[in-house]
Amino acid sequence: MDKKRLVMIPGPTPVVDSIRAEMAREIQAFGDPRFIADYKGLIDDLHEMFGNEDGGKTFVLAGSGTLGMEMAIANSTKRGDKVLVVSHGFFGDRFVDICTAKGIEVDTIKSEWGKTVPVADIEAQLSKKDYAAMTVSHVDTSTSVVADVAAIGAMMKKFPNTIYIVDGICSSAAQYENLAEMNIDILFTGSQKAFGVCPGLFMLWANKKAMERRESLGVIPEYYVDYKRWVPIMDDPMNYFATPAINLIWALKESVRIIKAEGGLKARYERHLKHARAINKAMEALGLKLLAEEGCRAVTLSDVLYPEGVDCLAFRKAMIAEGVIVAGGLGAYKGKMFRMGHMGNIETNDVVAALSSLERVLNGFGKLSKFGAGVSTYLAEMAK
Ligand SMILES: *Cc1c(COP(=O)(O)O)cnc(C)c1O
Repeated sequence: MDKKRLVMIPGPTPVVDSIRAEMAREIQAFGDPRFIADYKGLIDDLHEMFGNEDGGKTFVLAGSGTLGMEMAIANSTKRGDKVLVVSHGFFGDRFVDICTAKGIEVDTIKSEWGKTVPVADIEAQLSKKDYAAMTVSHVDTSTSVVADVAAIGAMMKKFPNTIYIVDGICSSAAQYENLAEMNIDILFTGSQKAFGVCPGLFMLWANKKAMERRESLGVIPEYYVDYKRWVPIMDDPMNYFATPAINLIWALKESVRIIKAEGGLKARYERHLKHARAINKAMEALGLKLLAEEGCRAVTLSDVLYPEGVDCLAFRKAMIAEGVIVAGGLGAYKGKMFRMGHMGNIETNDVVAALSSLERVLNGFGKLSKFGAGVSTYLAEMAK
């Protein structure tokens, strides 16, 4: 019999029944007034929940998170412009590739993996040149480091000509984010991470300043991701540009309903924080080391270094045999750590299952001192 596999990678995350049911619904025409109302309601909800303003636009479109990255750059810059990339790992670096492909000049400030770039260093670099845009990944999924996007946003007030772009793919709906309150110009995320929906949608928020920048660019070479093509549809989904991902939009709408039922984003942020800190402590109780330094640990995933002598492939195979999928390390940490996602609609029982599988696997490698050490630490923290 095929064992059940609990997906604990940093996206896609487990999809709950009520969201799955939306995926299985009979299709409606995209011009059906019922679907139009659903789509518009979802866009308006997301616009408000993440602090977008009048004159700003919120987009919900088909594509993975990377298309959101490309959309943000495409509508903020033109060939020959300069962009500053603040990179805390693999996904920060992806912006370099996107910008380079578009003929944009890129400067990068990188942190050591597991740490963040100090805000003062970003400010010093911004003072040197005129940057059209600056990018930061809120949580870099390769390092499980969380950037202080609020402090960076406050500093960005000194640079009104630079568009502040935040990659929220591994943070939105789990770590606090608000455009107005954090002075973010563009935020984007993907459906498959902390929203707990299947992969296939990305959401992008552009404030008034970001929309004005797009206006100033005139004609841009991109077609599908041009804000201008989609604004009429986001304003009134009765209009057509390209077919919306109807069932995914329903699924995301259900995710937003779940967020509201949970008590709103604030309650969801608190739940993620509580789980994450309990999981971090459980890992340490098992004698494992976390890559991210204390003080900049994300709530959406944990990057855990292997003890001496544990082979990555053998470890992950053993985890699958115990019913849990975790991800491997990226870049310089390939083979050196595993990454466990704990975001979206996961529950205490999922985490207990994941930790218990981890204990069995560590035991198999002769690296466990006592059964239950991780699970009991997690449960005790959760009960606080
Ligand atoms: C997952 C992820 C991406 C890539 O998103 P895709 O949906 O795979 O295209 C980019 N940035 C961050 C921070 C991510 O976690």
